Amino acid sequence: MSRHRILPLFITGSHRPGRCPLSCVYCDQALMLGGAGSALSAEDVRVALRSAAGRAGPAPEIGFYGGTFTGLAPELQEELLTAAAAAVRRGEAASVRVSTHPAWCGDEALARLARFGVATVEVGVQSLDERVLRASRRGVLAGEIEAALARVVAHGFRLGVQTMVGLPGSDRASDLATATRLADSGARLARIYPTLVLRETALALMTVRGEYRPLALEEAVARAADQVARFEARGVTVQRIGLHVDQALRRAVVAGPLDESLGERVRGELAFRRLTRLVQERSGDELTVRVAPRERSRYVGYRRENLKRIGSMFPGVKLRIIEG
Ligand code: SF4
Repeated sequence: MSRHRILPLFITGSHRPGRCPLSCVYCDQALMLGGAGSALSAEDVRVALRSAAGRAGPAPEIGFYGGTFTGLAPELQEELLTAAAAAVRRGEAASVRVSTHPAWCGDEALARLARFGVATVEVGVQSLDERVLRASRRGVLAGEIEAALARVVAHGFRLGVQTMVGLPGSDRASDLATATRLADSGARLARIYPTLVLRETALALMTVRGEYRPLALEEAVARAADQVARFEARGVTVQRIGLHVDQALRRAVVAGPLDESLGERVRGELAFRRLTRLVQERSGDELTVRVAPRERSRYVGYRRENLKRIGSMFPGVKLRIIEG
């Protein structure tokens, strides 16, 4: 079976004058935008495609990530999109996607993306709760975000959304409500991230002052699992859960649920919830659950945690998980 591949190209460092005009409380712009790093060029796109061409598998989808694509200088957007569109015409790339911020999803910006054949637009929503947006100083209102999402859909793009669980002012219900509203907004893809407290950010100060309490890992897992379940129940594909954890991120994080296997933990939590339902619905004291081979470890859980939890919740029930 052919597998979908994304070739990520990072526009980190391409923003001029090197700063985003917004000031989200959790953001370390030097880390997120690469400070004064060099801008991505059309030649970088061609070089990345040449090296991707050597790998087995279908042509990749080009993904411009790591910033607000539609916030870049229009000439730079056109330079990058021209190179990407040419690669699609030659069959070296399957399609193109960009990620951006709802404040930069005006009709003109979206029409430019459409002109160059961009297929997917991922919008960094983070939350649709007004209180959370204000407390996080996102610089946009929920109504403005929903209008931006509607424009993305109206321009014919496949809509992707990014959420953050555990932002200031959020709770479990508001994070779930965000996923519900996003699924209703026409989102087809989603990425879910935990809120982490980075050094020297406004959020770090709020944490020290006791104005913000970072999520514990289990809380982040529960909230992300709620969102995944809601998204998937409504046909939204969850493409990623959790951040790529590298050395730079490890150094920058001072608090919060930093865990490179957050995604697997969330899948394990969802398997646990399903097991709980099945055990509740069983008849008799024995239950055998068949799962796909690649899913078995999720059902058993990290260090057999799911089996232990089920065992203590339902003593006397003999649960077997088998592949098939
Ligand atoms: S929109 Fe917010 S998170 Fe994104 S770069 Fe600007 S300040 Fe940072």
